[in-house]
Amino acid sequence: MPRRIVATFVLALTLGLVQVVGGPAALGATDDRADRGTVAVRTLYYDSSGAAEFKDAVDQGAQIWNESVRNVRLVKGSPASIRVVADNGWPRAYVPRLGSGTIYMGRQAVNQGHHVVRIAAHEFGHILGLPDRRTGRCEDLMSGASAGTSCTNPYPNATERAQVERNFGGGSAAETFGGVFVEDSRRMLAAH
Ligand SMILES: [Zn+2]
Repeated sequence: MPRRIVATFVLALTLGLVQVVGGPAALGATDDRADRGTVAVRTLYYDSSGAAEFKDAVDQGAQIWNESVRNVRLVKGSPASIRVVADNGWPRAYVPRLGSGTIYMGRQAVNQGHHVVRIAAHEFGHILGLPDRRTGRCEDLMSGASAGTSCTNPYPNATERAQVERNFGGGSAAETFGGVFVEDSRRMLAAH
């Protein structure tokens, strides 16, 4: 093989390798290509500077959504429409409009043994327009604490993924989203 072709081949192989190795970690900012096809992708920036010990879990929760839906991406950066903070209450989200709001990573649930990445992904689910559905089923992300502390599943199910894709599909759902105030309180959990 002529040297130049060998060099090209090695270069391509190297690039390929870099892409594979950099895969999950590199899925941050601008990857709207290839597997996303012609789907219009809406990027939502979040600011987790106030998330204290939950910063990594918040990033993981965002990454899980990025792997789960095609037309919306959660990226740490600015201008942020989503603020994530830690406090000592129960985890909750204030969502004045779709794709925007404040997530409270409440230590109360974490201290009781609830899975922190599941909490982060669940609260992002509210930002993405999903309500609580206290089914008690671990395969449902939006069942939240009703699934119990043994549940460590941080992934939305197919129905939840489809709902978010509809919410950000540019159709009537996104336009008519009136805003919700969501509070994952223990009282609500007990009522369920
Ligand atoms: Zn909730």
